[in-house]
Amino acid sequence: HTRIELLTLGDELLLGLTANSHLTFVGAQLARRGLALARNVTVTDDAEVIARQFAESWAAADVVITSGGLGPTCDDRTREAVAGVLGQRLVFDEGAAAAIRERFARMRREMTENNLKQAMRPERGELLPNPNGTAPGIWVEQDGKVLCMLPGPPSELQPMFVAQVLPRLAARGLLAEGEAYVQVRTAGIGESLLETRLAPVLARHGDALSVAWCAHLGAVDCRLSSPDGRMGRMELEALARECAALLGDDFLCFGHDSLAKVTADLLRSGERMLAVAETATGGMLANCFAEVSGAGKFFAGGCVCYSNESKMQLLDIPEDILIQHGAVSGETAVAMATGAAERLGADYALSITGVRGDSSVPAGEAIFMGLYSPKGAWAKQLSFPGSREIAKQRAVNAALDWLRR
Ligand code: ATP
Ligand code: MG
Repeated sequence: HTRIELLTLGDELLLGLTANSHLTFVGAQLARRGLALARNVTVTDDAEVIARQFAESWAAADVVITSGGLGPTCDDRTREAVAGVLGQRLVFDEGAAAAIRERFARMRREMTENNLKQAMRPERGELLPNPNGTAPGIWVEQDGKVLCMLPGPPSELQPMFVAQVLPRLAARGLLAEGEAYVQVRTAGIGESLLETRLAPVLARHGDALSVAWCAHLGAVDCRLSSPDGRMGRMELEALARECAALLGDDFLCFGHDSLAKVTADLLRSGERMLAVAETATGGMLANCFAEVSGAGKFFAGGCVCYSNESKMQLLDIPEDILIQHGAVSGETAVAMATGAAERLGADYALSITGVRGDSSVPAGEAIFMGLYSPKGAWAKQLSFPGSREIAKQRAVNAALDWLRR
């Protein structure tokens, strides 16, 4: 069994200034390929502390992944600290230096001398090119173990991990070649009900099948795998299709696509345009589509309107609806969706209206959403106990889920 440790370096992580997204990213990527991270340790940028922790992890693990501290400034000390423990000298890599010079020339920026520090590598190490930044990653094999040093910024680490690290680990036989499980992703259904509905089908396979349930905001996943390979990939995929058919509209997709991505794909393939109007969620609903490429093909736009005046002016909501029913009501939600669709010439529109939690109404307890479609317009009341941030995210997910059904 391969033991993999992740060493995340950086004062900003310990000071709580940056969330440790490398843990969630690397952990999830490895799990998809059938391996669990054995441990994650976060330490400061201090060279001695890095060296001490790296020595401990290197002794315990088969693969050590470090992140951060590969940059050009004097607080980037990972190279030196780690090379010292490995007993390797640092050498200047001409190829890497050329790549760094070329990157600066291309971006028409002046290159200072300290940038060339990023061309240093342990003498028996290999560089992993970094198309998204200046510091290359470093790959070292020594004593039957693997060390992989990655740059700190997520926009650099993530593509490097997927395109270069995973294939190298797989080539050394440390990871499954493909995904280690088949995933059935669902939306709008809780994990207990999901398990109850799928149990009869899954039980047929006894202990040849291993099932994991993973609930997160916006989706509940059912992961199917076969611990001893008694069920092959094709058989698992057939079972996944059977589950999907059984779940009907509660089935979202196979794999890892988000609710927003699935909704966007449906709009795009039907050549339909969507508009949104929101108050309580302050633009979160619109922002879902900012993450999806080519949004202009299916997302007309939206309106964030908190005051009654803006609802009347931007969405043509009649004043008596607001006076009679209030801004947080099903009637207003329908009027917002209808107004957004008509103003923006969209086929569909979603709206969300709710109140900010205060002592009388807890956050998320009074949210209405509206849906406008060529077939009519409707409203639904939602209730999400819990923190304001989570209530907002749940409201956005509920609206997307309503539309895709
Ligand atoms: P740079 O060349 O940018 O200095 P680096 O390899 O030296 O890169 P760091 O200086 O340690 O890396 O971190 C750069 C940035 O990457 C940090 O400011 C932080 O925002 C982000 N970062 C580092 N580690 C993590 C982490 N574990 N999770 C999320 N973001 C991180
Ligand atoms: Mg740095």
